[in-house]
Amino acid sequence: MSPVPSGRIHNLINIAAYSVLAAGVLVATRQSLLTVTPVQALNFTLGFFVGTFLLSPDLDLAEGRVDSKRRWGLLGFLWVPYGMLFSHRGLSHTWLLGPLTRLVYLAVVAALVVGLLRFVWPAVPLPGVPQPLSLKVLLPLLLGYYLSQWLHLIADGVRPDHGLRRARREVRKRF
Ligand SMILES: [Zn+2]
Repeated sequence: MSPVPSGRIHNLINIAAYSVLAAGVLVATRQSLLTVTPVQALNFTLGFFVGTFLLSPDLDLAEGRVDSKRRWGLLGFLWVPYGMLFSHRGLSHTWLLGPLTRLVYLAVVAALVVGLLRFVWPAVPLPGVPQPLSLKVLLPLLLGYYLSQWLHLIADGVRPDHGLRRARREVRKRF
């Protein structure tokens, strides 16, 4: 297997790719080839950097010491079960389901934390989710997030059919 880039290298690759993309989009909008609203650009950027720094596929190593967990600071321990649940470069490193596993995990953990807080302190003031979360907001967020994940996978040398090939291999082993 080829050497796996470290967290720092992943961050540099993502930041470089973002800069090139941002410059390209800027030129394209100037030339009126593309329309991107400031809010769309902001949401895309948010999704991209949250994906790069906080929701890296290498959280599948969170049972140990890993860069992507350290960035969560005191909350890093919340990712330990994820690291135990997912083997390194397994499902967590697939193109479609992999990024989704981290979003779902985060949602479950957030729901548990909120539930616990409400239990011990029923009057706890919690920030609400802005309603309704429209597709116009969600789409650039998800696009930025998924792009950040795919850049990580490309740098890791993981192909888009990674999950499928694994599944096929499993099936072949069984029959
Ligand atoms: Zn990785």
